[in-house]
Amino acid sequence: MFDRIKESVQKFSSRGVADKEAVEELVKDIQRDLMRADVDVELVSELSSDIREEALKEEVPQGLSRKEHVLKIVYDRLEKLLGEEAEIDEGPQKILLCGLYGAGKTTTAGKLADFYRKKEQKVGVIAADTDRPAAFEQLQQVAEDANAEFYGRKEAEDPAKVVEEGMEELDTDVTIVDSAGRNSLNDELREELEEITDVFQPDKKYLVIPADIGQSAREQTEMFDSAVGLTGVIVTKMDSSAKGGGALVACANSEASVKFIGTGETLPDLEVYDPVDFVSDMMGQPDLESLLEKIQELDTDPEAILEGDFTLHDFKEQMESVTGSGLMEEMMQQLPFSKDKLPSNMADMTEGKIQNYSIIMDSMTDEEMKDPSMIKASRRERIAAGSGTQPGDVKELIDHYRQAKNMVDKFDKGSMQRGNMKQMMSKMGL
Ligand code: GDP
Ligand code: MG
Repeated sequence: MFDRIKESVQKFSSRGVADKEAVEELVKDIQRDLMRADVDVELVSELSSDIREEALKEEVPQGLSRKEHVLKIVYDRLEKLLGEEAEIDEGPQKILLCGLYGAGKTTTAGKLADFYRKKEQKVGVIAADTDRPAAFEQLQQVAEDANAEFYGRKEAEDPAKVVEEGMEELDTDVTIVDSAGRNSLNDELREELEEITDVFQPDKKYLVIPADIGQSAREQTEMFDSAVGLTGVIVTKMDSSAKGGGALVACANSEASVKFIGTGETLPDLEVYDPVDFVSDMMGQPDLESLLEKIQELDTDPEAILEGDFTLHDFKEQMESVTGSGLMEEMMQQLPFSKDKLPSNMADMTEGKIQNYSIIMDSMTDEEMKDPSMIKASRRERIAAGSGTQPGDVKELIDHYRQAKNMVDKFDKGSMQRGNMKQMMSKMGL
């Protein structure tokens, strides 16, 4: 999805200048890609003129180059287009799934059961699809796979009755009703959903739609919303349709927002919706979000970061805030130094080593953390014994800390702000 935007952003990033022509080319590529994903033309054209207008404005915010400024605008507009990050209630609740034939309701019932069971909830599903002959068996199987309780009656004809019985029968924290679909939202389906709602009194009413309906998701969402009053939408088959982007955008611009997306046929293929994932991917930077947060912090109060003494507490926090591979590198990205200027032993800080450091620091007193200069040989031995390490390890940690402190102390505040920004932008491929 949105591969062209990704390419285009990269191309734009590698250009020397962000002039009118460059912005125009970027906008054209974005337009083309969004239309291919079946995003509503009107929304695409709104987004394009927003980007054009903002990007070519005379004044660029202080501390940003025009190129940086343009990419930030593109990022913001795409994020806005894709709507809000979903907030999911993980506690006990009653969920009604509705939607048309083949949307993925039954599959999603299983995925949700699995999701909530992993959140330590006792989950049950009720088979309220009395329309399709094999619906009962399908949900029964799904419930078994997800380790959820199941209620259904094979020859049942009245779905509301089944739901009523199911509620009596099941003693669960999270109860999910899988309802029947139709080819369209006709009177029969409307009535059926009303009756189920009456007896079930759901906390959440989710419309399940497949990604391949693209922008018509908006119309469908609005119809179901006016019929049953939706809590949100679950977009399935994001893995197998090129129109997923269009469906997401359509929902974001309708009355009900996207809560989950389905990305495959098996139980774990369910994700809480987060537009930032998509935008970051489009911009070619998985961790763009955190970088932008850092920009924001700098924008608001660069001095706050440098306030007070740099203690071992700060060192520990800094270490623990960066995880995974390339860890030291990432940490160093935050400093206005190039890597070859670093003391050699700082460049080879591995994850294992950092874990080791954390264990050692856990054996220190608060006093020692605040003023590590008090840690002399005898204390080193005690700390090593307490953490199951060698006094040499403790010494190494303190040496590392001193080097980090030296750098922090040497910071010129203005250059840190600028330097930091530069490093971040270089991570964004600029
Ligand atoms: P229902 O009629 O709404 O209950 O739809 P089903 O749950 O029976 O799903 C219809 C078909 O879509 C089945 O073949 C599912 O395996 C498939 N399906 C459901 N969700 C997804 C998804 O997220 N990705 C893919 N690739 N297939 C899905
Ligand atoms: Mg079904």
